[in-house]
Amino acid sequence: MKTHARVIVIGGGAVGCSALYHLTQLGLTDVVLLERDELTAGSTWHAAGNCPNFSTSWNVIKLQRHSTRLYSTLAATVGYDINYHVTGSVRLAHTRDRVDEFRHVVSQAHAQGIEFEMLSPAEIVERHPFVDTTGILAGLYDPYDGDIDPAQLTQALAKGARDAGAKIYRGTRVTSIERLPSGEWRVHTDKGSIQAESVINAAGYRGGEVAAMVGEYLPIVTLSHQYLITEDIPALAERGEARLPLLRDPDVSYYMRQERQGLILGPYEWKATAHWLDRIPDEFANQLFDDDLGRLEKYIEAACERVPILGTAGVKKVINGPIPYAPDGNPLIGPAPGLPGFTTAVRSRSASRRRAEPAKSLPNGSRTGSPSGTCGHSIRGAISNSPMTSSCWPRRSRPTSTSTASATPPRNEPRVVRPRPHRLTCASLPRARSSAPVAAGNAPSASRRPAIQPSRKSLSVVRRGTRRSNVSARLLRNA
Ligand SMILES: Cc1cc2nc3c(=O)[nH]c(=O)nc-3n(C[C@H](O)[C@H](O)[C@H](O)COP(=O)(O)OP(=O)(O)OC[C@H]3O[C@@H](n4cnc5c(N)ncnc54)[C@H](O)[C@@H]3O)c2cc1C
Repeated sequence: MKTHARVIVIGGGAVGCSALYHLTQLGLTDVVLLERDELTAGSTWHAAGNCPNFSTSWNVIKLQRHSTRLYSTLAATVGYDINYHVTGSVRLAHTRDRVDEFRHVVSQAHAQGIEFEMLSPAEIVERHPFVDTTGILAGLYDPYDGDIDPAQLTQALAKGARDAGAKIYRGTRVTSIERLPSGEWRVHTDKGSIQAESVINAAGYRGGEVAAMVGEYLPIVTLSHQYLITEDIPALAERGEARLPLLRDPDVSYYMRQERQGLILGPYEWKATAHWLDRIPDEFANQLFDDDLGRLEKYIEAACERVPILGTAGVKKVINGPIPYAPDGNPLIGPAPGLPGFTTAVRSRSASRRRAEPAKSLPNGSRTGSPSGTCGHSIRGAISNSPMTSSCWPRRSRPTSTSTASATPPRNEPRVVRPRPHRLTCASLPRARSSAPVAAGNAPSASRRPAIQPSRKSLSVVRRGTRRSNVSARLLRNA
């Protein structure tokens, strides 16, 4: 392993590889990525891969649109095929407030040259012929939404970065991080140490562990998010190559999109399930949680009513994986306050409508010097060790009132920050309930992804007016 680089990225998921790729595009080729397992071993390998541009935040719209633009050219640029479909998406409004929100977002998007459209119920059906628009007041059309294979995307970004000179060390776990008198960072791994001017924490749901290595607290908690994939649906097969737009129903809280000749349904649960409140099991990588479709029954019922063809299919697969969330659902991106040269790029996912791709938050602004990320700092600022102020972190909280000045030693004084146990709290998710950590003995081998057993849970039981209380029991009995 090299012993020195300008920038070290910790974590080889979609975000870390994107950061690495974008750094090389800026001309920074002396850059290194450290990944404790394999690329995509965290949340990336099992993501549904939806790529919306919608957000109620100006900056997040901008970031997301950067991603979708990048994805449309990346395969050709780096010479690595990516399964990327631009299908457009339709978002449904059940209430006047939601219609107002859509109008607000449409005008923000138009101001950025992004052609979102408001749709009447009849226009919704023109775009998505299987939607029952009963009770729907309006829709929003995002012409650039779509889906991508997240593992291929990550590999393509990694290839582009490697081709430009970046080094990627897999099977290399960061164990501690030390600030040197020179202001540089020394990153210790189980394969040796490496020094750099800047470090980017892109460790996903383990972002809190890495932050703790430098004495930083990240307000994130791991939730489990599930989606299911149905078997083929004849009505979709009959349409041949035509693909439905992705459908989002933020009031009920789910996304639904076509996957081959079937559908994917992914609810964001209002009552989320938190995991690992004490610590993340060390061996958890390339793994999923057990599926728990019973939790999703009310979303499944609502989705079957909205798109009746969904209720005609059986369930082929259920994916239930870890996803890090900040209390407000926003990504945590930008220079860590009081830690010059240390940047956070931990993406969190919103259960409602705020969503971001940190993957692209490091890129656009870095090239232009314009703001990037939700706090308005570009990565260039971090790389040049520019001073940072906590005012750019309006949504982040630090555990104590310790000022950034006192938390940071004078420049020439060594700062050795020892890892401390990272406790995750969930104060802002009062309804979340904790579940038992995955027991080491029960966990599938970390070196192999679990074979996902096809389960034949018929969604049609929901359509046949089964009493809600019986639905999950029957779904599970059919499994
Ligand atoms: C079921 C499900 C569906 C989803 N669907 C979508 C979707 O449709 N669209 C979407 O945009 N997002 C989706 N997401 C969210 C998406 O998966 C994540 O936001 C994204 O993958 C995060 O990427 P990441 O690179 O930040 O983290 P990860 O992919 O978790 O990568 C972090 C990496 O850091 C490594 N690492 C951790 N600690 C260390 C260490 N100490 N040393 C070295 N390496 C370390 C890990 O091994 C891992 O490879 C979904 C998530 C789930 C669970």
